[in-house]
Amino acid sequence: MTGLGAIKGVNKALLGRLGKLGIFEPDDLLLHLPLRYVDETRITPIRDLRPGEAAQVEGEIIHAETQYRPRKALICQLQDVDGGLLHLRFLHFYPSQVAALKPGAHIRAFGEPRPGFFGMEMVHPQCRPVRENVPLSEALTPVYPTTAGLTQPSLRKLVDWALHNADISETLPAGILEELHLPGFAESLKFLHRPPPDARLDALQEHAHAAWRRLAFDELLAQQLSMRRHHARRRTQGAPRLQAQHRLTSALLERLPFALTGAQQKVWAEISSDLAQPHPMQRLLQGDVGSGKTIVSALAAVQAIENGWQAAIMAPTEILAEQHYRKMLDWLSPLGVSIAWLSGTQARTARSEVLAKVASGEAQLAVGTHALFQEQVQFARLGLAVVDEQHRFGVHQRLALRQKGTQPHQLMMSATPIPRTLAMSYYADLDVSVIDELPPGRTPIATKVVSEERREEVLGRVRDACLQGRQAYWVCPLIEESEALQLKTALETFEQLTAALPGIGIGLVHGRMKPAEKQAVMQAFGANEIQLLVATTVIEVGVDVPNASLMVIEHAERMGLSQLHQLRGRVGRGSAQSVCILLYAAPLSQTARARLKIIYENTDGFEIARADLALRGPGEFLGIRQSGVPLLKIADLERDADLLDLARNIAERLLRDDPPAAEVHLKRWLRRAEEYVKV
Ligand code: ADP
Ligand code: MG
Repeated sequence: MTGLGAIKGVNKALLGRLGKLGIFEPDDLLLHLPLRYVDETRITPIRDLRPGEAAQVEGEIIHAETQYRPRKALICQLQDVDGGLLHLRFLHFYPSQVAALKPGAHIRAFGEPRPGFFGMEMVHPQCRPVRENVPLSEALTPVYPTTAGLTQPSLRKLVDWALHNADISETLPAGILEELHLPGFAESLKFLHRPPPDARLDALQEHAHAAWRRLAFDELLAQQLSMRRHHARRRTQGAPRLQAQHRLTSALLERLPFALTGAQQKVWAEISSDLAQPHPMQRLLQGDVGSGKTIVSALAAVQAIENGWQAAIMAPTEILAEQHYRKMLDWLSPLGVSIAWLSGTQARTARSEVLAKVASGEAQLAVGTHALFQEQVQFARLGLAVVDEQHRFGVHQRLALRQKGTQPHQLMMSATPIPRTLAMSYYADLDVSVIDELPPGRTPIATKVVSEERREEVLGRVRDACLQGRQAYWVCPLIEESEALQLKTALETFEQLTAALPGIGIGLVHGRMKPAEKQAVMQAFGANEIQLLVATTVIEVGVDVPNASLMVIEHAERMGLSQLHQLRGRVGRGSAQSVCILLYAAPLSQTARARLKIIYENTDGFEIARADLALRGPGEFLGIRQSGVPLLKIADLERDADLLDLARNIAERLLRDDPPAAEVHLKRWLRRAEEYVKV
């Protein structure tokens, strides 16, 4: 195969521009698909033009003038053979355009007509001169994504070259292709790059056409094949077999003040049996906020420990890690488990003492923040690593806790439910367990959406709740642009509330506090020494204070849906009726309104996540847009959900029945596909 450099007229500068579009090889040109199409296959009489419907007209310029008021503009009048008149208006133009659009010039103009001051007009139509009887285009004209210095005609030429010179052979075995009822690869590519004039423009634009679906399928299939290969590769690595001994795990269960829910029992059984396998588990434990994932992770840790191995539990924030540490102390010390606490604020000597215990194996469980574990903590025998609130780290930052010989099992936990389509695609190399039931005795949370103007009323509710012995959170607005401003707002809110609510103990936590200070405030809140906790979104994850039954979120319209759901999940953990008040500042944008409506109407995290995904798209949802991990380019998980199902089945069958065919397919897409996961 020849490289791009071999194409006539392609120089270094052009290669650079192509590179910006992600085009490095002839294959990439093939898969550089049009954004949209324009129909230049026909001429529309000017009198048949309809506002908003793009069309091509042809005629003679009968008048042209440059106006200077209200702003500089070139205005031409075009007349077609039927006598229809149309104004063409240009706000930016070059002398060459003025010359080309002189009276007497015969041109074709393509653009979107709209009613103007002088009748129908087109603003900035694409114009080209025509001599008599120049044939119309035979195909719909593709419009490609491009970059500065690369024109549509040159891109079209390059794609033409690729269609003739690059490899467009079929990768799917004939039997499978037949079963799919989708067109062939070459046929689909030709159709999308050069659609025939009778192609339905709307279907093409909507990606509903079979040719689009074929390419989307190919992309999804490559992703599935790549994910499954990762999954299979993991099975060739060794991990300690941590068999269920029912010694410490049973002792822990007996000591608990509650019984596991059915859902907890089910996921625990799945995890327990994974741990007994001789290859590393990579399981994602999903469960809505408050569903009780922590105890499941404690059970898993204890199964590792009762087999003579160590376990580690990591959390994204110091507050959350500390809370886990306390829970583990409470649950596991009575069983004689020795627990090490790795904190960012530990004195150097204390820290090295802890590290020594971890390295010698004396510490059976280590708890700390994720960051702490990234700095080369040496374990004597690490059997299991638990990562809490995994979504915070991004999908593709899965832990690289490698050790010589065997690999530790990994349990990732997330309260941001992953919609099915995402779980099947970006997470397809993981095994997933779901806790789909909340512990009994929870009272549903009532959500209220309240305008900022009714702040006084809200303050009154907070006062009443606190005076009646309950506790409340007050979440300060998120200010993404500036951390300093966010801090300022938090301090001001704290002062205002302190002034407005005399006699109520009020604490403040924000991102800039030292971990020890945060911990002191959290502890005081946990012990009900403080009734109202003013916080920035640091309390987003994992904080567990059952007596807190009221939450106020300021400027809720600025927050993402999952974030709101997580925050709201901090209340409703005890027996008191809980309320979450979403304060918003009017006027609301349309998306903000849509978001608040979803959170108001739904309490199920999965429903909310699905809506969030639809609103934000997978890149934002997964937090990988900026990470350089390529997202699916052609397929859309919602629109092509049926293809995703198909791709999954076919991937499984190909790998089982026809591995060489799988290789051929991956080879075409691999440069993309292998990036889908980095484990
Ligand atoms: P999350 O899944 O959000 O991490 P947690 O593990 O923090 O939830 O659990 C939330 C609360 O529910 C904790 O106070 C925990 O002790 C309690 N809990 C967990 N499982 C049960 C259960 N089966 N019955 C009653 N309470 C439970
Ligand atoms: Mg949790």
